[in-house]
Amino acid sequence: MSTLVAPLAGWCAALDDSPDPVFSGRVLGDGVSIDPTSGEVFSPCDARVHSVTKSAHALTLTAEDGAEVLIHIGIDTVTLDGDGFEARVKAGDVVATGDLLLRFDLEKLARAAPSLRSPVLLLKHPGLRCLRLAPDGPIKAGDALLRIERDPQQAPASKHKPPAGKDKPLASLTPAGQHKAPASKHKPSAGDSAKPENAPAGEVIEQRLVVGLAHGIHARPAALLAAAIEAMDAHLELVKGLASNSSGASANARSPLGLMTLGVACGDTLTLRASGADAEAAVAAVVPLLEPLAATTGADDSRAAPSPATGSDSATAGEKPPSPAPGSALPGQIAAGGLAIGAALQFQAPPLLAAARVLPKPEEHRRFESALGAVAAYLDALAQGTEGLGGEIARAHLAMVNDVELAAATRRGIDTGLSAAAAWKAAVAEMSDSLEALKDKRLAERADDLRDVSTRMLSALGGRAPAAVAELPDNTILLADNLLPSQLLELDGAGLSGICLAGGGSTSHVAILAASRGIPMLVAGGAEVSGIADGAEVLLDAQFGALHVKPTPRVAADFRRRIEALEERERAARVRAREPCVTADGARIHVYANLASREEAPRALAAGAEGCGLLRTEFLFMHGGAAPDVAAQRAAYQAIADGLEGRPLTIRTLDAGSDKPLAYVDHPAEENPALGLRGIRLSMAQPALFERQLLALLQVRSATPLKVMLPMVSCLEELEGVRSMLDEMTKAHALPTNIELGVMLETPAAALTVDVLAEQAAFFSIGTNDLTQYTLAADRGEPRLAARLDALHPAVLRLIETASRAARARGKPLSVCGHAAGDPLAAPILLGLGLRELSMAPALIGGQKALLRQVSIEACERLAAAALASPSADRVRALAREFLTALPPEEPSREEPGPKEPGQAREPREERP
Ligand code: PEP
Ligand code: MG
Repeated sequence: MSTLVAPLAGWCAALDDSPDPVFSGRVLGDGVSIDPTSGEVFSPCDARVHSVTKSAHALTLTAEDGAEVLIHIGIDTVTLDGDGFEARVKAGDVVATGDLLLRFDLEKLARAAPSLRSPVLLLKHPGLRCLRLAPDGPIKAGDALLRIERDPQQAPASKHKPPAGKDKPLASLTPAGQHKAPASKHKPSAGDSAKPENAPAGEVIEQRLVVGLAHGIHARPAALLAAAIEAMDAHLELVKGLASNSSGASANARSPLGLMTLGVACGDTLTLRASGADAEAAVAAVVPLLEPLAATTGADDSRAAPSPATGSDSATAGEKPPSPAPGSALPGQIAAGGLAIGAALQFQAPPLLAAARVLPKPEEHRRFESALGAVAAYLDALAQGTEGLGGEIARAHLAMVNDVELAAATRRGIDTGLSAAAAWKAAVAEMSDSLEALKDKRLAERADDLRDVSTRMLSALGGRAPAAVAELPDNTILLADNLLPSQLLELDGAGLSGICLAGGGSTSHVAILAASRGIPMLVAGGAEVSGIADGAEVLLDAQFGALHVKPTPRVAADFRRRIEALEERERAARVRAREPCVTADGARIHVYANLASREEAPRALAAGAEGCGLLRTEFLFMHGGAAPDVAAQRAAYQAIADGLEGRPLTIRTLDAGSDKPLAYVDHPAEENPALGLRGIRLSMAQPALFERQLLALLQVRSATPLKVMLPMVSCLEELEGVRSMLDEMTKAHALPTNIELGVMLETPAAALTVDVLAEQAAFFSIGTNDLTQYTLAADRGEPRLAARLDALHPAVLRLIETASRAARARGKPLSVCGHAAGDPLAAPILLGLGLRELSMAPALIGGQKALLRQVSIEACERLAAAALASPSADRVRALAREFLTALPPEEPSREEPGPKEPGQAREPREERP
């Protein structure tokens, strides 16, 4: 039958993870959800607009073949009452595929709605079903989304059809009285809340009520009403207005579409008219869903219910913000993913001691030196005794405390007559201002670290000893305006289930720290976060970005189910993720992890990585005021090698410059930093810095030879230069050579000269992120070019094909470590172009292995050939989507769960170059 194209651009995903159980449970129908990246909604097919909600957050269309489609922008967006939405069509309009239907203000919704995930559904219709054409991942408006076809398994409805005996269309909005109900006996109830009288089959019973749903009957209540009577043998009609025989509009309660179209608002009077054997039960089931206030019915969002009095809390403007109403969902930005349930606890930072009076200069100097010594000693101990990123942050803070410039500026301030505390604050403020003025967001966020160190010093100057670890009750969801990395380090991780900050940034150090500890975290939750009382039950949803405060039992129960489902999915993915990846026709595909810190290594193995295909060493260089010394680097690299338990480790040398400037390296001002001194060019321009890294790398011991690769190579000379540096260093330091030197193919120059580079390079790895940027001349940091920056552009694929052919001809291994390796649409094409090694974010490994087990190399080669001949990236994506849609289901595991070594599952066909 018909195909629906994506009505909006964004991230396509299954309905299962929709935060609203009405959608995830497919109560209204089946389809997908799209997390939008733009605010325009286009028609997915040629259709007639059936209805547009008053608030313009949802609309329904009737396709030419009779299928009814619902597009619902975001979750709970009915509460916005149309704010931020602009409908461009009205009911009855005839639209063609691609016509603009409505616009919405993406940013406004992102702030106000608990989730932007927008379901696109085929409304339930007997005899019709939809098949998904688009896999999880980015999607553009107009891409194939769903195919609607006859469902051979499902005959058109019989049991629940209206008594008239005819199939009713899904949209059963008709004037009252047109339904041919056998109204042999009307027994209107006495009042609004009267109990319906018994009604034998064939009789009609009626009940009137005043609708108490704060937002009337919108998608969710409509779905719940239909679901409530789904299994009952009854025909139930909702008639707008008082009189059963009036000409008010009516809708069949089994038709969510009809119910939504009825336009019932809070306070409207409805007459329920039921017939059939279960008529009484049907009325009894739906009255509680319509009548009382939302908070008790669960049929509507309780946010819309009147807020409880805020009492004295809100009495004084500018004081503590009022507590959010029970049942509210505060939107927040996801800083570390996951779900957590627990009791709120407002973080109390220890107050700084009152500033002491200014002492004579020698006293202030003594005070400063002693505080400096105490804080440095404390941080040193913390750095030594804390694993992973926590230890690295402590080391970075130690470097700041030991910063000679900072100390000198403070001493100068004391000499001018300031107290030690005032002089320190002034010195920190100056440095912090210059950090914040930097364009790079990540570097600017290091100003947080400086503030953190500063607070610690001020505390010490006030006479307070550095804090010890504070214990937290179990299942604590920590709330704070802001949190410093050291404050998180000093909290006992065992009791901490989640964090929500009123402010903060998603790439701040404290966010990275939370993610590395597996603590779900939201930031930018707004001032209301501070109004949540200690002990209140909160649900931290760091999948969809919301903090639910004192949820209703139903919301809490749904959330618990989501936690269980998430755990189950992760468990299932883990089971097969550690099996080797072998295609359906027996080709062995090696799947590695991209890493950026040492504690990720064991987690990557657990996620199914066979080693590390790209270690981004920037993580060691971006914090602190100085480059790490040889010992610190060696320890970090060795820890990762150890964490991988002898599996292959590919370390990329420092890729700084461009969007990753180093505060302590004097960069010349550049007109085009992406084309300037970055990657290997910067390393060669800073030989002392580079030699320290090479020396550290030469000392790493590992069961498999260490692979070291160079970023941004564009000519053989760069490789030769590094080779001779390595040779000289191995001689000078009498070190064994345990390094294979390789090249990242990130520039078209490198990709086109693999045959030349192969003289010196032991292996190659394609960095599709940069290769795409440089091939398409589109800055990867420029949001307005994001849509063009597609690694599946035929030009990029042709470069990959050329490189792959040349690497094979020279017998050199070639992998892909850019984003394309983890993209389900790209991976089969990469296999078809000859790639057998992929490296990606650990979280993607299980899914990619599962996908590649279903493909055959022969089919991938056909797909790749078609992709190379395609005119555009869009066309390539469409081909890849068709390819995925036609794949057979994954074979179940033939293995027991548990760690597996490569090659254990079955004897694969190794295809080494
Ligand atoms: C790439 O360019 O594809 C790559 C892996 O390097 P990065 O994303 O770190 O620049
Ligand atoms: Mg790169």
